[in-house]
Amino acid sequence: MKTNAILVTFSEVFLKGGRRGWFLSKLKEGIERQLSGAGRFKVRELHSMLMVISADTRGNDFADFEVDKGIRDALARCFGAVAFHPCLVVPREISRMEQIAAEIAESDMNGVGTFKVDTTRTVKDFPLDSMEINRRLGGVIWEKTKTPVRMKDPDLTVAVRILSNFAAISLEHIRGPGGLPSGSSGRALLMLSGGIDSPVAGYQLMRRGCEIDAVHFDASPWTPPESREKVEKLASMLAGYQRGMRLFVIPFGDVQAQLRDSAPGRMLVVLYRRMMLRCAAEIAARTGALAIVTGDNIGQVASQTLENMTVIGQATGMQVLRPLLTYDKMDVVDIARKIGTYETSILPFDDCCSLFVPPHPETAAELERVQKIEESFDIPALVSSAVNGAEYMTFGQVSEPADARPAPAPSPVD
Ligand code: ATP
Ligand code: MG
Repeated sequence: MKTNAILVTFSEVFLKGGRRGWFLSKLKEGIERQLSGAGRFKVRELHSMLMVISADTRGNDFADFEVDKGIRDALARCFGAVAFHPCLVVPREISRMEQIAAEIAESDMNGVGTFKVDTTRTVKDFPLDSMEINRRLGGVIWEKTKTPVRMKDPDLTVAVRILSNFAAISLEHIRGPGGLPSGSSGRALLMLSGGIDSPVAGYQLMRRGCEIDAVHFDASPWTPPESREKVEKLASMLAGYQRGMRLFVIPFGDVQAQLRDSAPGRMLVVLYRRMMLRCAAEIAARTGALAIVTGDNIGQVASQTLENMTVIGQATGMQVLRPLLTYDKMDVVDIARKIGTYETSILPFDDCCSLFVPPHPETAAELERVQKIEESFDIPALVSSAVNGAEYMTFGQVSEPADARPAPAPSPVD
């Protein structure tokens, strides 16, 4: 069967309330943007679905296209879509649908042991009901192929949708990424290291409709240039899931060296991470981000015990989101592979968190002790010199300048 459209279904959840039109426009925008790299398409709004059609379609004369790998990869990035159905859209006449059923019998039943026709009427003004349509089209296919019908788990489902002006017939159901449309949930700032976790954490936020920017703490010259290049590559990959992304690279080697010189080695990871959060909060205030996102995971490494995460989080009044907190590593790896960041993340270049840290760092830091150590440093000066030295780059399209919304960082709680 040929394809001349892809029907897009979405969860009804985000259509509740008065924001239906807005969510739909975001979803439509995201699909158009993602597909722009895979061919020439336009997106029409139907009653309860969206329909992707070729840009060559004139009126109701739908142009055929092939659903190739480029299109499939693009669809996997369309957050908010629950499923895609490549289909053949035809006039809403039973004789025309029977003709398509005959074509399916001829060209799509090879190796198919059982089948069913499954009709949904999205509008009820069609003279035949769903059962009758199933019976008529199923009858055509059975006549020609003698393939048995099976209602539960057939090899092939011929899905027929009766729309207001057309019928759409499809043989394939492609699972969408789900979540919420890109750009529908506000902005967040991802702390992006070169590891496996943080790109996945960023993806999880994007999947829930947040637009993210990224901040990376760079300990060169103690870390090799490849470690920085790796982060840039990861940022450019993540940027492909939304309109574009900003990456702020903060020189952090000096801060780390200063802390190393006067603070107990056991405490360094906690101190580094508190400094990172303070710097991130400054950047977040500039980009308009409402939260900082990390790849933290309970118990994974010393800085990620509940005790340490509490003390680290108290360095800023800004909300810190840790979407991978409860994930097992293998689940994170599965997502990293799916979104394409895994191979880059496992390249063996050192990251700054382990710099100068002894083999047995503190796992149960106490806020008072940490604050006492910090008293011997000019924390605000260290933060502002690091943040002022930030380099900034963009991937894809970014609408606002880096400092579009300068605002003071929220005051720390401690
Ligand atoms: P990842 O795999 O993301 O590197 P990890 O398991 O190695 O995580 P840590 O090194 O403790 O864990 O870092 C925890 C989180 O802190 C990271 O997921 C990331 O969000 C943030 N982080 C750590 N190092 C950096 C860095 N150099 N720049 C930006 N963020 C960082
Ligand atoms: Mg790391």
